Amino acid sequence: MMKYEAVIGLEVHVELLTDCKLFCACPNRFVHEPNVNTCPVCLGFPGALPQMSADALKQALKAAVALNCDVALYSYFDRKNYFYPDIPKGYQISQYYVPLGSDGYLVIEDDLGAEKNVVINRVHMEEDAGKLVHGESGGQSGKYSMVDYNRAGVPLVEIVTGPNIHSPGEARRYLEKLKSILQYAGVSDCKMEEGSLRCDANISLRAGSDQPFGTKTELKNMNSFRAVEKSLEHEIKRQAEILDRGDNVITETLRWDENKQETIVMRGKLEAHDYRCFTDPELAPIELSANDVEKAREELPEMAEERAARFVKDYGLPEYDAGVLTASRSLADYFEACLKLYDNPKEISNWVMGEFSAQLNNAGIEVDQASFEPEDMAELLKMIDEQVISGKLAKDVLEKSFQSGKSPREIVKEEGMEQISDQSELEAIVEQVISENPDSIESYRGGKKKALGFLVGQVMKATKGKSNPQLVNELLVKKIDE
Ligand SMILES: [Zn+2]
Repeated sequence: MMKYEAVIGLEVHVELLTDCKLFCACPNRFVHEPNVNTCPVCLGFPGALPQMSADALKQALKAAVALNCDVALYSYFDRKNYFYPDIPKGYQISQYYVPLGSDGYLVIEDDLGAEKNVVINRVHMEEDAGKLVHGESGGQSGKYSMVDYNRAGVPLVEIVTGPNIHSPGEARRYLEKLKSILQYAGVSDCKMEEGSLRCDANISLRAGSDQPFGTKTELKNMNSFRAVEKSLEHEIKRQAEILDRGDNVITETLRWDENKQETIVMRGKLEAHDYRCFTDPELAPIELSANDVEKAREELPEMAEERAARFVKDYGLPEYDAGVLTASRSLADYFEACLKLYDNPKEISNWVMGEFSAQLNNAGIEVDQASFEPEDMAELLKMIDEQVISGKLAKDVLEKSFQSGKSPREIVKEEGMEQISDQSELEAIVEQVISENPDSIESYRGGKKKALGFLVGQVMKATKGKSNPQLVNELLVKKIDE
């Protein structure tokens, strides 16, 4: 048992799913070619006037109500002034003084499995910054940086928790839950590897929950939920060692190094930023009615827990299956799309949770990036039912179809994987196996039923898995008894 209590706060930036950027009509879409999604507004040309996208407000409002926040009926945008080349205007437009949502919460399991509310202090709207691309052309002064403003002005919500997360595991579960809620609500695709969800953490230790907060450090550059958990574990150990020695933790920003699996100082003592925040004079305030908020709340779609309960009730799935399938909206959608084409929930569940998910993990991709469509899944399962292929071979077919993009039927045809349905062909092989294994026949006749399993295995081997074990079994018994 550690003698300190960890106090963790998380700041998550999420890119909203909208057609356009927050204050201009430039497309909100990821492209590789730099500076194509830009215009005078998001490049910060003098005189260009911003106008808030109603779509972005709608998405931010959904996020706020989905996270159980109080919604400010009157809020506005502020200019956060600082100089950095990824901010073309010299300031970022954000909601500093009055956030759209405040005092929300989200329910997770604590380390002992009990339900716990993580406090969400605020959910506010802001614009994203551009991206710096660093390069080197050789020579002494060959280092250079280029700026890509495609991302500048993309709508974000920043979601800030209160200091009531107390372990790295809680932090990870909070992030998983947050991602699930935002995906279900259709607010964001939350792809950490593409930067549409980014997380910073701050952490301090104290001797007990009745003690004042300790000095905190800030953690950045974590590119997965696992990395957040790991870096917090590492930082707790590091701070505990400092306190054990009787020294003081210093306020600093640390960067997680994925290769070294340790935190590295990024910058020392946090500069006390004076952002000189003031209300943006070019943007109208955001005014909502209580009715708008109520409507947003009513329009929230079915979330993970409700959907899991429905999967148990309507499809008769075990709770475990329902929980796994609904953990992500895209997987649950995939499952239900399969179910429309093939009416056996448990069978589909097994294949979606098993082979299909394994292939996604192997490839490191999300459901919507997989070329193995629900149609392919249904085709595969039908082929098992029709005894065209065995369940065992079907796993290979899925793998090959998943990787090549060809349909399961094409794969089976190309690879000659159809089960041997020709009775006489199979009989010949069965007879051969019988003649080659007199000892096993002997022990089978002597009452050792297990010997039959061995013989079935031999036939399956001789046919490279392309025979139906049930049929082989029957044929063997028949032949031996003859
Ligand atoms: Zn623009």
